[in-house]
Amino acid sequence: MEKCTYCVQRINQARIAAFKENRTIRDGEIQTACQQACPTQAIVFGNIQDHDSRVAKLREEPRHYRLLEELNTHPRTTYLARLRNPNPALEPAASGQGASGVH
Ligand code: SF4
Repeated sequence: MEKCTYCVQRINQARIAAFKENRTIRDGEIQTACQQACPTQAIVFGNIQDHDSRVAKLREEPRHYRLLEELNTHPRTTYLARLRNPNPALEPAASGQGASGVH
């Protein structure tokens, strides 16, 4: 199985083009292949360190979440969704009761 490279060949192509033109890579200039193929435009790729980029702004939305964030994994791919847990047995843990968090 091959792991996602975030289309490194496209990133390098844009990086070289920007270097030749003595500029930085513009927001939205790089599209991954799966982003380009997605008919619902559900995938956004960009520089999260550029606070004006679309992806950085989407990551500030309240719906933004990371998988296994509680394990401090810091995944590069994150998601937007309204999360809920319909399992009543897990409700106390989800509401923070009994948790040993520091917040
Ligand atoms: S097409 Fe998507 S899944 Fe495949 S390498 Fe590019 S970013 Fe990763």
